[in-house]
Amino acid sequence: MPVPVTNLLPEEISEALALKVYQGRQLFRWIHAKQVFDLDAMTDLSKQMRQDLRSRVFLPQIRPMEVLRSCETGDKTQKCLFGLADGETVESVAIPERDRLTLCLSSQVGCALNCAFCATGQAGFRRNLSAGEIVEQALYLLRDSDRGGRTPNIVFMGMGEPFRNYDAVAKAIRILMRKDGLNIGARKITVSTVGDVPGIERFAAEKWQVRLSISLHAANDALRSKLVPLNRTYPLAQLLDAARGYCQKTGRQLTFEWALMRGVNDSVRDARELVALMPGLKAAVNLIPYNRVEGLPYEPSTPEACRAFQSVVESAGIKATLRRERGGDIDAACGQLRTRQASTPPERA
Ligand code: SAH
Repeated sequence: MPVPVTNLLPEEISEALALKVYQGRQLFRWIHAKQVFDLDAMTDLSKQMRQDLRSRVFLPQIRPMEVLRSCETGDKTQKCLFGLADGETVESVAIPERDRLTLCLSSQVGCALNCAFCATGQAGFRRNLSAGEIVEQALYLLRDSDRGGRTPNIVFMGMGEPFRNYDAVAKAIRILMRKDGLNIGARKITVSTVGDVPGIERFAAEKWQVRLSISLHAANDALRSKLVPLNRTYPLAQLLDAARGYCQKTGRQLTFEWALMRGVNDSVRDARELVALMPGLKAAVNLIPYNRVEGLPYEPSTPEACRAFQSVVESAGIKATLRRERGGDIDAACGQLRTRQASTPPERA
């Protein structure tokens, strides 16, 4: 069986392919530092070895099927739909902002957690991604986008729940951080969870500085259980316990995500409820106007409601960033491109 080499660290490549240690490192460097997948282009490997490896490595594991570039002025948000070897599809987004370039990666095909407002959950769960299928999304986006000297940030905010595919996500992070690969600093990587408590506890025990984001969206159990069904398994008291434990254990700050939905979770009262949860936590709040999803009844909050919400949180001394909606014209919200693709054939292959 050909070896899916992007699942592996350099030492593991050498072992899996019975290569010398330095040869595994060479292969790793070509793939991750230079984003080269074509064995023929790996000129410091002997011709004989390239020939030999051709039938022994499974590379790449994912192939871009459709690339959409946002037309919004000054916003070159780029979204890519990838085909996997078994015919499944996933998507990722590259979002450039002044001195930053954020890559939003998927961790699963579909998602089992069925958040009421999210496009990904609508089609259910298909399967976990391998570490290589995760890492290759970043490699492609970087190869394909104008980096302009910017170092990328990585957020696990695409399709799927990263903590329901913990091992592959953790392995992907270790590969992304390798100095002889993409060399992305731990603080530039954020894992976003819907609130999977065992995952948060495991993450808190990791010896790394990778950031954690929790998708809160509601600060009382009645509303949160409606929006995020996993709240019935891990209600707010338990989730906040785990969040406080994370802050204490790691000394790090975490972020709460809050998608502002008109008339659902965007009132001053909702903001006050959120503020009341914050004692004992080192946390900042990320506010995102909801991105419409076809077929779902949720609407983005008005700019006035967004600002009023933000101002209540900030007046309590909590940092609250109001994000701009990005890439709306290319369905950049989580799961939307794949959802559209499932019903209509791609126009551009
Ligand atoms: N499962 C993980 C990561 C994927 S979703 C999680 O829930 O955190 C990344 C973020 O996008 C989450 O905060 C999610 O709630 C939010 N999100 C999903 N659909 C959205 C939409 N249509 N508009 C705005 N935010 C959305």
